[in-house]
Amino acid sequence: MRTLTVSVVTPDGEVLEDDYEMVSCKAENGELGILPGHIPLVAPLTINAVRLKRENDEDIIAVNGGFLEVRPDKVTILAESAEKATDIDVERAEQAKTRAEQLLESNDSDTDELRAKLALHRAINRIDIAKK
Ligand code: ATP
Repeated sequence: MRTLTVSVVTPDGEVLEDDYEMVSCKAENGELGILPGHIPLVAPLTINAVRLKRENDEDIIAVNGGFLEVRPDKVTILAESAEKATDIDVERAEQAKTRAEQLLESNDSDTDELRAKLALHRAINRIDIAKK
């Protein structure tokens, strides 16, 4: 099987670099499935799972917004933050979820609602991925 190199990078450093047969992710315009030889492309990503597939295994990464750059032999994901499913601290994500929910329920005029919604979305994404 042909492969492409996938690199996931955040401001904290590289999360992963390895070869895979297919990348599935959710861009702001919809689902993308990328195979080796794909036409070059840049797309903004949503807070979601990125699935990296090989014949006999699959790695799942929680990607919390950012950009995808596709070249025929390489996919680079520049994310604000990203974790491998196995590195996710579920308890921390549950606490972040509760904090965000409390902020959104408080109706406090000081609450930055968009920021709280994004924090909730990141927490739910991490919990969903860790449980897969
Ligand atoms: P928290 O409120 O728990 O910090 P957050 O969504 O605000 O969550 P981010 O700003 O997205 O956190 O990430 C900050 C750093 O912490 C990043 O390096 C990210 O990978 C890491 N991180 C955040 N939450 C988790 C988690 N539940 N498990 C593992 N790493 C996490």
